[in-house]
Amino acid sequence: LNRLLEAQPTTIFTVMSALARQHDAVNLGQGFPDTEGPHDMVRVAADALLDGQNQYAPLTGLPELRQAVADSNARFQGLTINPDSEVIVTSGATEALAISLMALIEPGDEVVLIEPLYDTYLPMVRQLGGVPKLVRLEHPDWTLPLDALANAFSTRTKAILLNTPMNPTGKVFTQEELTVIAGLLKQYDAYAVCDEVYEHLTFGAPHISLMALPDMRERCIRIGSAGKSFSLTGWKVGYVTAPAPLAAVIAKAHQNLVFATAPNLQRAVAYGLNKDTHYFQGLAADLAHKRTILSDGLRSVGLEVLPCHGSYFVMADISPLAQGEDDMAFAQRLTREAGVTTIPASAFYDASNGAPPIHLLRFAFCKQEAVLQEAIGRIRAWR
Ligand code: PMP
Ligand code: GLN
Repeated sequence: LNRLLEAQPTTIFTVMSALARQHDAVNLGQGFPDTEGPHDMVRVAADALLDGQNQYAPLTGLPELRQAVADSNARFQGLTINPDSEVIVTSGATEALAISLMALIEPGDEVVLIEPLYDTYLPMVRQLGGVPKLVRLEHPDWTLPLDALANAFSTRTKAILLNTPMNPTGKVFTQEELTVIAGLLKQYDAYAVCDEVYEHLTFGAPHISLMALPDMRERCIRIGSAGKSFSLTGWKVGYVTAPAPLAAVIAKAHQNLVFATAPNLQRAVAYGLNKDTHYFQGLAADLAHKRTILSDGLRSVGLEVLPCHGSYFVMADISPLAQGEDDMAFAQRLTREAGVTTIPASAFYDASNGAPPIHLLRFAFCKQEAVLQEAIGRIRAWR
């Protein structure tokens, strides 16, 4: 058996969701909306099923969806993308991440990763024989330490894996930070895998694609997810935008792993991506409101809330309420005793890079207002 996979624990999202069910807790752990995405998109998907869109789609995706991805790149990031040679539709951003890394990494290649990080990144890199080089953001402000970042790059660096807006911190990387990263990519002739699944979910801070910076067009693989842009996480439709020579290799990995993605969902996502800009602004405004409700509520029960400018998530410092226990023990107790489930932030760190912080919890706010209020009420009554 594969020792890396054998040794890998079950994802923290599954563990905490199971605990939430067991204790009938309000689940602010796993990040998924508790309302459905746009009804008109669901209708398009249903109609496409009934109209007979039920056989294999083209390998790189339906032409109408590749065109919609290219148009979206132009509308939101000013990028000119060839829909025929530079877009690949995937079964979720998770597959997009896997095939992008497969296309780049050979055993021994170094990959720069920024902690805290999404839980699939490290296993994926290690499975391919890649060597992770971890750079840890400084809390409470989620500052990117530029010296440590520069030190993580070397002549062996193949790529950086960059997530902005970022899960689990809610950080949105600034133009200045991206410019530093771009400089390092040029200096070391490296690529960037850009996980931008939360591209439309920012609150005040603009989302900038690294790919849109000067000289970055040929070095970046940009990944989006319909799950996040349309609150339809169960659909698992993602898309990769990459320069043609890279996209050709990524398509080979897609061919081996999945081959093609459900055609009716692709049609509906194409329809969704062509929505008016007001739709995307409305989505962000709704989440910004929820972020504020949850953050204010957490402060009102005595927790310190860390800055959050995007994504579904905000981190809070549990020190005022913890009784000398670590984040995992506290998160379990919060589920059992208060009936509120969160994700302990240490799950997003790797001990190989030093002891992780054990005083932070990640809260998902992509939930109905009443659910967020209920969670705050339960913590207030319990503390
Ligand atoms: N990247 C990040 C940062 C995520 O948070 C998620 C899941 N929420 C994914 C990738 C996976 O997206 P998908 O569900 O489209 O596979
Ligand atoms: N991305 C979601 C989160 O961070 C979880 C997705 C999953 O469970 N794989 O909560």
